[in-house]
Amino acid sequence: MTSLLDYRKQASEALKKAALNLEAKDYLLNNPLLFNLLLKAARRYIGGETLEEALETRKALQDQGFATSLEFMGESVHTADEAKEATREFLRLIEALKADNKPERVSLDLSHLGLFLDVKLGIDNFKLLANASRDSQIDLFISAEGVDKTQQILDTYLLFSQEYPHVSITLQTYLKRAKQDLARILKESHGKVRLVKGAYDGPQDQFVPHGPELNDRYIECMEILFESGRFCSIATHDPDILKRIIPLLDKQKIPSSKYEFEMLNGIGNNALSELKQQGHPARLYVVYGKEWYLYLCNRLSENPDAIFRALVDVLG
Ligand SMILES: Cc1cc2nc3c(=O)[nH]c(=O)nc-3n(C[C@H](O)[C@H](O)[C@H](O)COP(=O)(O)OP(=O)(O)OC[C@H]3O[C@@H](n4cnc5c(N)ncnc54)[C@H](O)[C@@H]3O)c2cc1C
Repeated sequence: MTSLLDYRKQASEALKKAALNLEAKDYLLNNPLLFNLLLKAARRYIGGETLEEALETRKALQDQGFATSLEFMGESVHTADEAKEATREFLRLIEALKADNKPERVSLDLSHLGLFLDVKLGIDNFKLLANASRDSQIDLFISAEGVDKTQQILDTYLLFSQEYPHVSITLQTYLKRAKQDLARILKESHGKVRLVKGAYDGPQDQFVPHGPELNDRYIECMEILFESGRFCSIATHDPDILKRIIPLLDKQKIPSSKYEFEMLNGIGNNALSELKQQGHPARLYVVYGKEWYLYLCNRLSENPDAIFRALVDVLG
C-alpha cells in the first residue's frame, strides 16, 4: 500500500521534474488563465514581480517588526548580457535600499552575475555591487549553490572579504566539507555567516543526508561560530534545531547583535513571529522578479503539503 510518505516523495519528485520541464513551463506561463492562477499561488512566497512591489512587501513586513533580506531572483544566466542585466537590477535594488538609510540585506547567487559563464565577468559585476553597497548599512550576502560551484564561490568570497567586510557568505552544513570551509572562513574573512542545511542535489558521497546527524552538524557549526564571536544567521525552519538552539543562546549568553533567525517568506512567518515575540532578532528572506515559476516549484517540492495551501490560495 502506498503510504502518505510515498505520496509526498512522489509529489516532490514530480514538482522537481515539472520545474525543469521547459515545455511544461512554456505552456503554463503562456496560458493567461494558468499563468494568473500560478502567480496567485506564488505570491505567498515572492515579494512581487518588480522592485517596486518587493519594496512594498518589505515595508509591510517591516511594519510587522521583521527585518528583510531581498533577492532579485533569476535562473542561471546564459549570456554576458543577461548577467549584466541582472547586475543592473541589483544596483537598482541597492540604490533603493540606500535611500532608506536603514540596516538592510541583499542576497544573491554569484551565478546570476555570470561567475560561471566567465569568472572575470562575475567578479567585475560583483565588484560593482560591493562598491555600491559599501559604506551603507547594507550587507551583501552570497548564497550557496550546487556543490560543483562551492569552491569558486568560497574563493570569490574570500577574495572580496578583505576589502569589503560587509560581504558575507552562506554555508551549507550538509556538505561534508562544511567544517573545513568554516575554518577557512573564520581564519581568512570578516563577514557574517548564514548557516543553512543545503538545498541542491549532487553526488551523495559529498553530503550528509537530512536527519539527526545533519542537525547535530548544524548545531556544531553554529557553536563554532558563536565561540569565534562571528555573527551567525540561523537560517532554518527545522523545529528540532530551533528547539535545541534557543537554550544554547541563553546558556552561552549570546548577545542579540551576534545572531538572528532568518526564514523564507511564506514558509517561516509564523515560527519567526513567535521567535520575535520572545525577543530574538528575526528576518524574512524575500525574493522578487519575473522568474518565480522555478521558485514556486522548488518551494512546493520541499514541502508537498504546501500544495494544498497553494490550492487554497488559488481558489480562495
Ligand atoms: C534565509 C535562507 C537562506 C537560504 N539560502 C540557501 C542557500 O544559499 N543555498 C542553499 O542551498 N539553501 C539555502 N536555503 C535553503 C536551505 O538549505 C534548506 O533547503 C531549507 O531551509 C529547508 O531546510 P530547513 O533547515 O528549513 O529544514 P527542513 O528539515 O528541510 O525543514 C524543516 C521543516 O520546515 C518546514 N519547511 C521547510 N521547507 C519548507 C517549504 N519549502 N515549505 C514549507 N515548509 C517548509 C517544514 O515543516 C519542514 O518539516 C536557505 C534557507 C533560508 C531559510
